[in-house]
Amino acid sequence: QAHLDRIAAVDGDVHAYLHVSDHALEVAADIDRRRASGEVLGRLAGVPLAIKDVLVTTDMPSTSGSKILEGYMSPYDATVVARARAAGLVPLGKTNMDEFAMGSSTEHSAYGPTRNPWDLDRIPGGSGGGSAAAVAAYEAPLALGSDTGGSIRQPAHVTGTVGVKPTYGAVSRYGAIALASSLDQVGPVTRTVLDAGLLHDVIGGHDANDSTSLPDRWPSFADAAREGARQDVLKGLRVGVIRELGDDGFQTGVTAAFRTSLAAMEAAGAEIVEISAPHFEYGVAAYYLVLPAEASSNLAKFDSVRFGMRVTPHAGATVEDVMAATRDAGFGDEVKRRIILGTYALSAGYYDAYYGSAQKVRTLIQADFDAAFEKVDVIATPTAPTTAFRLGEKVDDPMQMYLNDVTTIPANLAGVPGISIPAGVAEEDGLPVGIQFLAPAREDARLYRVGAALE
Ligand code: GLN
Repeated sequence: QAHLDRIAAVDGDVHAYLHVSDHALEVAADIDRRRASGEVLGRLAGVPLAIKDVLVTTDMPSTSGSKILEGYMSPYDATVVARARAAGLVPLGKTNMDEFAMGSSTEHSAYGPTRNPWDLDRIPGGSGGGSAAAVAAYEAPLALGSDTGGSIRQPAHVTGTVGVKPTYGAVSRYGAIALASSLDQVGPVTRTVLDAGLLHDVIGGHDANDSTSLPDRWPSFADAAREGARQDVLKGLRVGVIRELGDDGFQTGVTAAFRTSLAAMEAAGAEIVEISAPHFEYGVAAYYLVLPAEASSNLAKFDSVRFGMRVTPHAGATVEDVMAATRDAGFGDEVKRRIILGTYALSAGYYDAYYGSAQKVRTLIQADFDAAFEKVDVIATPTAPTTAFRLGEKVDDPMQMYLNDVTTIPANLAGVPGISIPAGVAEEDGLPVGIQFLAPAREDARLYRVGAALE
């Protein structure tokens, strides 16, 4: 009830939610009844949860921020949602996002932007700005996001929250409306590292419904966070800082906050090691070929026949006319831009030059990570180059929007896990800044330990 009251009080301004559940209180009351009758419930039973609208739900519409799916009701729950429900979490609602998770500001949502609770004239990050803003504004204690190129971590950075992109395959993608299947991962958005660990424990682990789900047994990430908070995990920790990243293109206060965090780690006994990752900076270029290519293929299913909206342009329209009119009316500009780019990159004659080259760069970035993790335990970077920018500032300049992802994208290309935790504010604008840690694939627990130690 407290969260519903808070939503009623502030969401008119923040617009974190696209849909608020009309039966959250009933679900919560049922949990109370079960607990009262002596049933042993999970650690998060009764805790409200905000769900990014990219995740399908049977009891609330799932639009992925697009008009083409307006009012769409899924016949099944995403695995992460089903697991959250089974653990007794109470879904509060569906959160706003850039259309089909394409963007870094939530301004590409077909339902209007979300605003940053720290300053309502600024963006909450994207694509998962709704989940991050909901958590930052106390409209939810926990939220689910998806991260294809930074959509969990960058919103965490600009809203002073914690965001985790797990190892590729660690959390099921079943029921996460696909953007780029080889990059997408679902993960937690929370206020503390421990909260993120608790939620990750509930949603993670093998899922036979996702063909890329890892068969691994995972340690408890909540336990890892508790260990990090209690023990001396920073002592002797080798923290890699990427030489090639430099300060160019990074806001002064972002760099300063990053250096302050590194100094604090050093004071606690960590060793800061300069490493070389020469291909890291080509991540953006490779990503913006791989992503549109996969997205253009994934979005082909929105054909006016199987899902959502249908526009019949005139009497006697052919199926092609209907398809074209529907996709024209249903998709926004950014989605169309990427479909065109991806279709072009995949076409005969261009495939090797564009998609093939991008895949090679991807392999080089993976090799950079492999070499770096021979020398260090984690890599640290600022989570994003700037603090929250103003609404409207970059929305008409796709290149500027894409460059905001320079530090988050490489983790998705390599499949490694990443966490963003708050690292103070930038001195020039007083806005939140995050620090990102990356670890080798499957070493997610290390990120929870380090994050909790620094928190
Ligand atoms: N900002 C990136 C993009 O626009 C990341 C998106 C994401 O992680 N879903 O593609």
